[in-house]
Amino acid sequence: MPLDAGGNAISQAHRIVVKVGTSTLTYENGRLNLRRIETLVRVLSDIKNSGREIILVTSGAIGVGTGQLGLKERPRDTAGKQAAAAVGQCELMYSYDKQFSTYGHVTAQVLLTRDVVEDGHRKDNVVNTISRLLEYGAVPIVNENDTVAVEEIEFGDNDTLSAIVAVLSHADALVMLTDIDGLYTADPRSHADARLIPVVAAIDDTLRGAASGAGSSRGTGGMITKLNAAEIATGAGIPTVIMNGANPRRLYDLFDGEPVGTLFPGHCPHSPDK
Ligand code: GLU
Repeated sequence: MPLDAGGNAISQAHRIVVKVGTSTLTYENGRLNLRRIETLVRVLSDIKNSGREIILVTSGAIGVGTGQLGLKERPRDTAGKQAAAAVGQCELMYSYDKQFSTYGHVTAQVLLTRDVVEDGHRKDNVVNTISRLLEYGAVPIVNENDTVAVEEIEFGDNDTLSAIVAVLSHADALVMLTDIDGLYTADPRSHADARLIPVVAAIDDTLRGAASGAGSSRGTGGMITKLNAAEIATGAGIPTVIMNGANPRRLYDLFDGEPVGTLFPGHCPHSPDK
């Protein structure tokens, strides 16, 4: 088996947090990309069958709700976002549950807010519940509880949430699926000479500069939030990968130890300014 640049850490990971973003899960009009979800769930089911544990952190509630409600664009106000999320979260879980059950796997919905993971006792409950779900063989599917989350208690983006979930659940790897192949030396949409960075040795200001730029119109995060998430996870020793979610089968290559996307090895040092 080929070795990955993370010293085999990814290929040997047992407990894996996979984060999937709105732009990967939906079409431009907000409707679910069923082919994408079906492939993703099949691959995750197979990876689970091979003996690994999967925790899925999913975005898409607001985006999918926007599509379900036939709204012209993603609402901008809190009530609109919360209402869209309430609709979209049902549809998301329905789709995941239907797909995972095709492969004999049980799903579990876990909705979190920041205040829960910042309170020692409530955090312990979350940790215990996730660990019990894994023990029971279920697939925890985590999102922010968007319908009740308001500014003071929100994570803001699911990249950060996925890193926090990875730390809380003592994951061995965090994989963020997005609509681009990984982290580039500059924004490839505006810089033709931008190059993919296969392995990040250190998260510093140069890298943050390269990562700046907005995400898609349907999601919340961009590269910067992914970089922050990688910093949280690698700070806890968890190797992190940013890769394209367009072809979820690439996850097989990743866990076979092939270089895919951008790898942040678990020992990534923090930059001095953070
Ligand atoms: N929790 C939001 C949702 O499900 C997504 C936040 C994000 O895109 O990072 O719609």
